[in-house]
Amino acid sequence: MKPWALFDWLFPPRCALCGRFLWGKEKQDQLCPACSGREKLKESWKMGKLPFVAGSVCVYPYEGSVRWGVHRFKFRGAARSGEIFGVLLAQRVRETGLLEQVDLVCYVPCHRKIKRKRGYEQAQKIARPLAEELGLPLEALLEKRRNTRPMYRLKAAQRRANVLGAFAVTPGKEALVRSRRVLVVDDVLTTGSTLSECARVLREAGAREVYGAAFARTFAKRPGEKTGKGV
Ligand SMILES: [Zn+2]
Repeated sequence: MKPWALFDWLFPPRCALCGRFLWGKEKQDQLCPACSGREKLKESWKMGKLPFVAGSVCVYPYEGSVRWGVHRFKFRGAARSGEIFGVLLAQRVRETGLLEQVDLVCYVPCHRKIKRKRGYEQAQKIARPLAEELGLPLEALLEKRRNTRPMYRLKAAQRRANVLGAFAVTPGKEALVRSRRVLVVDDVLTTGSTLSECARVLREAGAREVYGAAFARTFAKRPGEKTGKGV
């Protein structure tokens, strides 16, 4: 028996979104047929501009099995899903033409306390395979100085206040930012206040343009619907 066959037997691969067990060829896709057939967002990167952000792309609306998948990825340690999330997001960056606008990739960092607790930074888990897929350099350009309150409990104005001044350019990385076009990766885009604040900090440090890429995106709340848990 090959070592990875034993690994698969011990930890059978599951769909990165709905969590169902995968068989045969499905294992390569890391998604079950139902989830890989899910409808993706079709907006161009020029849509829905945020302050300091020149444009952004997302793969899926944050609902149904996408919501489940992101939740497991974020809170239940399914860090392996970051691989496929990053590859799908890279495809989206390429097909929208955003790739031509970008020089390097960074990600929305977690506070060190969260990183210690979770064992990884979720946005970095998506950004690494994305950068590899697109052949762009990945740099930890940002750090989180202050721990913020969970965003899902806050209204839009509170979200902006919550993240204001929470991020800074990593000491020693200033020269990498200057005159560059930076793509900031995150898992979920909600009001965009986190992305916007990261972009403000990067622009202040001299970045020429800042773009955003998130795996999923929430849309305005419909009556009777629960609020998204993204940032
Ligand atoms: Zn699935």
